[in-house]
Amino acid sequence: MVTTHNLGFPRIGAQRELKFALESYWKGESSSQSLKDLGAQLRQRHWAHQQGIDLVPVGDFSFYDQVLDMSFTLGNLPERVSGFHGDALDNYFRVARGRSAKSAEAHSACCGGVAAGEMTKWFDTNYHYIVPEFNAATAFKLDTTRLLAHLTEAKAQGVKAKPVIVGPVTYLSIGKAKDNSDRLALLPRLLVIYTELLNTLAAQGVEWVQIDEPILVTELDADWQHAFNTAYHQLKSCKVKLLLATYFGQLQENAYITANLPVAGIHIDAINDREGVLPLINLLPAHKVLSLGVINGRNIWKTDLTAVLDWIEPLAERLGDRLWIAPSCSLLHVPVDLASEEKLDAEVRSWLSFALQKLEELQVLGTALREGRHAVNAALTANQAALAARRASPRVHNPVVRAAVAHIAPHLGLRKSPYTQRAARQSALLNLPVYPTTTIGSFPQTADIRHARSEFKAGHLDASGYKAAMHAEIARSVREQEALGLDVLVHGEAERNDMVEYFGEQLEGYVFSQFGWVQSYGSRCVKPPILLGDIHRPRPMTVEWTTYAQSLTGKPMKGMLTGPVTLLNWSFVRDDQPRSVSCKQLALAIRDEVLDLEKAGVRVIQIDEAALREGLPLRKSQWQEYLDWAVESFRITANGVRDETQIHTHMCYSEFNDIIASIADMDADVITIETSRSDMELLDAFDDFNYPNEMGPGVYDIHSPNIPTQEHMIQLMQQAATRIPPERLWVNPDCGLKTRQWPEVIAALTNMVAAAKTLRASLVA
Ligand code: GLN
Ligand code: ZN
Repeated sequence: MVTTHNLGFPRIGAQRELKFALESYWKGESSSQSLKDLGAQLRQRHWAHQQGIDLVPVGDFSFYDQVLDMSFTLGNLPERVSGFHGDALDNYFRVARGRSAKSAEAHSACCGGVAAGEMTKWFDTNYHYIVPEFNAATAFKLDTTRLLAHLTEAKAQGVKAKPVIVGPVTYLSIGKAKDNSDRLALLPRLLVIYTELLNTLAAQGVEWVQIDEPILVTELDADWQHAFNTAYHQLKSCKVKLLLATYFGQLQENAYITANLPVAGIHIDAINDREGVLPLINLLPAHKVLSLGVINGRNIWKTDLTAVLDWIEPLAERLGDRLWIAPSCSLLHVPVDLASEEKLDAEVRSWLSFALQKLEELQVLGTALREGRHAVNAALTANQAALAARRASPRVHNPVVRAAVAHIAPHLGLRKSPYTQRAARQSALLNLPVYPTTTIGSFPQTADIRHARSEFKAGHLDASGYKAAMHAEIARSVREQEALGLDVLVHGEAERNDMVEYFGEQLEGYVFSQFGWVQSYGSRCVKPPILLGDIHRPRPMTVEWTTYAQSLTGKPMKGMLTGPVTLLNWSFVRDDQPRSVSCKQLALAIRDEVLDLEKAGVRVIQIDEAALREGLPLRKSQWQEYLDWAVESFRITANGVRDETQIHTHMCYSEFNDIIASIADMDADVITIETSRSDMELLDAFDDFNYPNEMGPGVYDIHSPNIPTQEHMIQLMQQAATRIPPERLWVNPDCGLKTRQWPEVIAALTNMVAAAKTLRASLVA
């Protein structure tokens, strides 16, 4: 008989209770005991929600990050947090965010802040984990306090617990050796601790342990492949059964190794690796459990239950008890409960499924496999009806949009002339100095702006009052920029709360949830918009604000848009068409906006692609295919303009070395990127690659309240000038200024403009 289980549950709480409790504790407004109590309450509630499934994850709850929890379990804490006052939780937050709660920092003389652990993206998700730190001397020491406490709570609640841990090979591979030593050299030491850990769990009566090894879906070299064999042959003697979990991608060449590891079961992501399932079954020794992740743990759509049953019933027949079913990965990556979405209309709601609904779907599948489909007839019928309605809905399908995408002609992505000719026309028209100065788009989002927006949304401020308030903000930005002496101005983005939401709300084909929060890191959550139908732009979205701003100044005003790839990568995407098709639809919609801006007399247009890099597939072998359609989408958006119109793009990072050719292929006239924190080190990419167009390497780190000096910015630009000829360099901050305060911004930009003037003078001299 089939077993149902779950790999992990969102810990933040349906109303983001954990977020608010954490932030209140950090501010010193509540005690650590009340935070701990809330944690226990959430665990209890979440386990109760999972009652109907056979094996429930324990240890997935975390006050910050499950990888950081693993580091604590393994006793792998950075040296810099030893010797502080306070308890383990205080130290935990020190590693997570550089400081603990206010109350614990009373000892500021002896326990001042420390450097927070580095954070990076968990595979291809938008969740960020704290990177484990290693060096050649790293010693591990088991600490099961947290895990055993959760296990005891679960047992008391009658939960059929399956502890969840990060596997040793993934743990090493996602960490960083601070001294550049070989992380794999630590494996023998680490395995001693894992053995102890698993035996401790066995002594608690645990039967199954889920051990996560998602790096098996990435390309591994021989040493790392070998590490899997070493690790699991050593752990084989432990008295628990291991379910080795992989997710987010395809096993491909790692399938053979995975199938033959001496573990009791394997979990595979059958959403992303459906083609890999049969080959894996054929490789799998006959006593092993195969867990299929058949419900998408990364997206919010209802599962087609009948289609899944059609597919897995024969597998259930073949595998018998050895078949388990689950979501594809931890449900950490989806919101908690659809029931809270009161504002979403009933039709759209009937197409969606958040974490709790996904667990219901899992139970329906389990019952159907055990007792036959008739036992869940009503659920299957309702599911079929919802899916059929979605498939047929005019909200999803717009024949005009589909035809437009089908007929995208190659010339849509081509500028009329090559860069050098365009550059000459643009400079004649714009009349800019060398080292022109600009900013990335937003100016400080003041309390006044937020107040006006919330009053407008609540209906206390009418449209004309709101417009007047925004016009006043735009006028202020323009005044400040003119006083600073910047060359290309921006309107300041006062009217935008978020660079995706602003456009999503005006495009047909998007919907927004009220509580669809997903943890991004620590207490930070994001609420990705839902791309549900063919994308159509009913009317211009930014032209009015931009032309108003232009009317206030004789300097060029930059129109400001979010690009198609970023809109796509920061949304929940459709599961009924390839991402590339959704991206082209977005491209056509934003292209219309670009052309409308041009028609309205805007001569410089910036199309932000902050998230282009985030969409790269986990396997390098699949990068090119993604880059091809991503770059094409950008080109369709940008390249319909006349030679005289200058196209800018902006990216929030500059790890370009591996994708530089594609970035150049976007053919933007100017690209602005983040570089100041790395001291231009990231411009190394341009040693071997001759970037053909103009570039603005950021010289002002907008993430910090520090005011950069003129000298520092000059020095950064001089470094940049060793790679890019000065005639093609711009001077600008790293990113938008919305999170900063006006006084800092004015001080920093004053220095920036002065730096540009000094650089110009040195060219003339
Ligand atoms: N134009 C946007 C801004 O300035 C860009 C933000 C971003 O790149 N994340 O806010
Ligand atoms: Zn940015």
